[in-house]
Amino acid sequence: MKNIYLLGATGSIGRQVLEIIDRNPDDFCIVTLSANSDLDGMSTLIEKYRPEYVAMGQPDAAKILSNRYPQTEIGSDTAGLVKAATFNPLDQNGLLVNALVGMCGLVPTIKAIEIGRSIALANKETLVIGGDLIMPLARKHHVTIYPIDSEHSALWQCLKGEDMNTVKRLIITASGGAFRDLSREQLTTVTAEAALKHPSWSMGAKITIDCATMMNKGFEVIEAHHLFGISGSKIQTLLHKESYVHSLVEFIDGSIIAQIAEHDMRLPISYALYYPFRKANPVPPLNLAKTGKLTFEPLDFHRYPCLAYAYEALEKGGLYPCVLNAANEMAVQLFLEHKVSFLEIETIIRGQMDQVTNIANPTVDDLLITDATVKEAILITTLK
Ligand code: NAD
Ligand code: MG
Repeated sequence: MKNIYLLGATGSIGRQVLEIIDRNPDDFCIVTLSANSDLDGMSTLIEKYRPEYVAMGQPDAAKILSNRYPQTEIGSDTAGLVKAATFNPLDQNGLLVNALVGMCGLVPTIKAIEIGRSIALANKETLVIGGDLIMPLARKHHVTIYPIDSEHSALWQCLKGEDMNTVKRLIITASGGAFRDLSREQLTTVTAEAALKHPSWSMGAKITIDCATMMNKGFEVIEAHHLFGISGSKIQTLLHKESYVHSLVEFIDGSIIAQIAEHDMRLPISYALYYPFRKANPVPPLNLAKTGKLTFEPLDFHRYPCLAYAYEALEKGGLYPCVLNAANEMAVQLFLEHKVSFLEIETIIRGQMDQVTNIANPTVDDLLITDATVKEAILITTLK
């Protein structure tokens, strides 16, 4: 029986985590839950799972829930998320599942590592911003980080039992997002509503926009660098519109090993929850005879500048990945609010990256201050 501390319970990943847990009630016990502001969503979860502690990102939401459920301890903000992540600090069977979106996942992840809690991580922004701090800290505290992102789950499966010295490169596949068949000229007029129609996956709004700009793939390159200790120059991306080959590893003898399955996040979620065991799950089997052709194309950095920015941020290191992420979070939010155009997302990010005064080995406080400064600067210049 694993005790689950779940952050981001009402989101796309969070709900699929709960679906796997519901199917296997003898294997898991929900101890804490968190969400941002979804009162109805969290009320349903409190009544169903009776968690020992609940954290809401928004203090107002926490107050309303506290009145509704006086028997349940409910906190809010970063302190609440940290408490939900580190509740019962001596629990040896605990697993933090971090399915938050955005940089709010950073501090709870770090605090969970410090108490030695294993982590199943969907929240890629955390590794993008803080990978240089998180991976050494995890090694120090003997904490394993199990990736939930489908590409990293694929790489992890392909690398199982392999000598990392024999890896020539990692190849991360991309579906291409909602606008993959549009030219750059056509991108000038696209809407948020159109960008939210992803061709293969149904996901939260922010990551769906990140797929359309290809920033998501850039983040995944940085994420893979941290998880597998491989330099950016050895991580390649490929456009694979069918989204069945989730990633590949090429070895020095010329072998390429791929993980292939339906595009369904319940598979990598289940793999992370049960690792090192495989467990049957509700994902439909992939019928390769029916899928037909699998196609692969190089990704054009001029067509997708955000991908190039991510490689640049990884190479420059220090504060660059934090600035990349902060600028992206704010630009995507403004795009979703119809305040900037689709192509302005990349110009906003470029503008912020051009202004970085870099430092080596930033601390968590450096990252938090940089994140806030970049977001505020974008708000001031964009909305004036
Ligand atoms: P989502 O928007 O559907 O859900 C996000 C969750 O985080 C919600 O429960 C929301 O309430 C909570 N949240 C957001 N801001 C918060 C805050 N400030 N404080 C507290 N809670 C907050 O997002 P998602 O699609 O489930 O993605 C979650 C993470 O997983 C992201 O980092 C994403 O990149 C990654 N991921 C998602 C998918 C997918 O298929 N959805 C695939 C791979 C990776
Ligand atoms: Mg992914």
